[in-house]
Amino acid sequence: GEGLPRPAATRVIVVANQKGGVGKTTTTVNMAASLAMHGLRVLVVDLDPQGNASTALGIDHHAEVPSIYDVLVEGKPLADVVQPVHDVEGLFCVPATIDLAGAEIELVSLVARESRLQRAITAYEQPLDYILIDCPPSLGLLTVNAMVAGQEVMIPIQCEYYALEGLGQLLRNVELVRAHLNPALHVSTILLTMYDARTRLAAQVAEEVRTHFHQEVLSTAIPRSVRISEAPSYGQTVLTYDPGSTGALSYLEAARELAQRAVGPGGSLVGQQRDG
Ligand code: ADP
Ligand code: MG
Repeated sequence: GEGLPRPAATRVIVVANQKGGVGKTTTTVNMAASLAMHGLRVLVVDLDPQGNASTALGIDHHAEVPSIYDVLVEGKPLADVVQPVHDVEGLFCVPATIDLAGAEIELVSLVARESRLQRAITAYEQPLDYILIDCPPSLGLLTVNAMVAGQEVMIPIQCEYYALEGLGQLLRNVELVRAHLNPALHVSTILLTMYDARTRLAAQVAEEVRTHFHQEVLSTAIPRSVRISEAPSYGQTVLTYDPGSTGALSYLEAARELAQRAVGPGGSLVGQQRDG
């Protein structure tokens, strides 16, 4: 694909919202594939025990597969668990297996329990432009590990009633992590998902979100699309499943916006400090 600006250092983006079913996983894999198809090198870290991001990328994640669990709990290097995504050049995935369901509790008694993912990412030497972390629908230690490892939080918001409910808690957690563990962390991006242009409610919710967070909201909204929801059952993103669909085009456009955006107020994208 055509080039997008390559960040001078890896942008690590935490895709979070403690609500389930708002489009975190769909956004993670499709944004990641879009960035890769624009010529960038991208790693998806599946941090949800359900392993939906792994499934959607066609990555084997049965119980025996080396996974993010081994990295977090056993201290295995990230390089030992990264797998290439077959049909998208430049896209890689660290799968999650069902083991990860226990990690939330196992991590509690481990040294540096909040920063185990951050350490693994820092030690990973392959050049990457983006790391997208797909979080579980909770604000426990897995999500905290993601927030310590990243600089940016991307929040997908489903355009329906109650969309903003619970967001306060997410924002407070971002603040807590920023204050105590990771001064670089900030909400850089909000993406409206499953947008149905025909309903008044979707338009109202979108309006409300844009009023609250005008700077962070991408101008591209992702429409509700059957093609987007079908793709994972073929182990594909919508970008390869149906490249010409409105769903695919909207994720390509959202990814272009993300890549072209100035760095948010937290400012500390490591990339800003390095030259070319
Ligand atoms: P989360 O990771 O936040 O739980 P998912 O990304 O798994 O949410 O999305 C929840 C469900 O909605 C999935 O079945 C997914 O296929 C579907 N979905 C997500 N985005 C869209 C969309 N733009 N259009 C249609 N269905 C979608
Ligand atoms: Mg998910």
